[in-house]
Amino acid sequence: MARKIAYLTIDDCPSDDMRRKVDFLLRNDIPAIWFCRGEFLEQRPEPIVYAIKNGFVMGNHSYDHSLFSRISLGECSKQIMRTDELIEEAYEKAGIERPAKVFRFPWGDKGGGLDIEKRGFIPRKENADHIEAVQDLLKKLGYRQPKFKGISYDWYIEAGFLHDVDVYLTFDTMDWACMNPRFGISGLEDILKRMDEDVPEDGRGLNFAGSNEIILIHDLSETSQLFEPIIERLVGKGLRFSLAEFS
Ligand SMILES: [Zn+2]
Repeated sequence: MARKIAYLTIDDCPSDDMRRKVDFLLRNDIPAIWFCRGEFLEQRPEPIVYAIKNGFVMGNHSYDHSLFSRISLGECSKQIMRTDELIEEAYEKAGIERPAKVFRFPWGDKGGGLDIEKRGFIPRKENADHIEAVQDLLKKLGYRQPKFKGISYDWYIEAGFLHDVDVYLTFDTMDWACMNPRFGISGLEDILKRMDEDVPEDGRGLNFAGSNEIILIHDLSETSQLFEPIIERLVGKGLRFSLAEFS
C-alpha cells in the first residue's frame, strides 16, 4: 500500500524561533508551506529569507490576523496586499523566484465566521456573499490553491474546500489550543494522544488510509517546545511529507 502523504503547513510565522524550526525540518527532509503574518514579517524578515533560500514556500496569512468575517472587503484587500508586498520583498532579498501566491485565512475564518465549539474551526456558510467576494478578491490578486493530491475526506469535499482559492487543512495538531484551557488540551501528552485517535469524519484521521492530509502546526514562540515532538510523531506514523504542486 502506498504511504499516506502529508502536506505540512505552518501558520503565524515568523517567530523568534523560526530559524531553529527551519533547520529541524531541513535535517528531516520535510518540505512545508509557511503562512506569514505580515506584522511579524515586517519586524523580522531574516528567518523568512533564510527559509526561502532553503526551499520552503511562503504563503500569506493576512497582516494582523483579523477575522475576515468582521472586516470589510476593502479591509480584507489591505490585509492581503500589505502582506503580499512583504513576501515579495523577502523573495527578492533571497534571490529566488516566488513559486505561487497562496493564502490561509486567520482562524480559518473564510469570511463566514467561526464555529469554535464544533471540530475546532470549521467555517460556517453564513454570510455567503462575503465569503464569495473574498474568494473572488484572492483570485483577482493572483492567488490559487496549490495541488494537494488525494484529499478525499467527505466533510472536506462537502464543504467545497477542494475548489476554494485559499488553503484549508484536514488535520489541526491543536498546538495552539494549549494556550487556552477551554479546549481541553493542556500539553504535549494530550496533543499526541489526539493524533492516535481514529475519527476521520471529525478531523482526526491521521491513521485513516483513505485520505492524504494537509496538516496545520504553528510557529508561535509560546508553543515552540511542542514543534519537534509533534513532527517526530508524524514521522513515526510513516507519513510521507511532500510539497504541493504549484502550476
Ligand atoms: Zn494563524
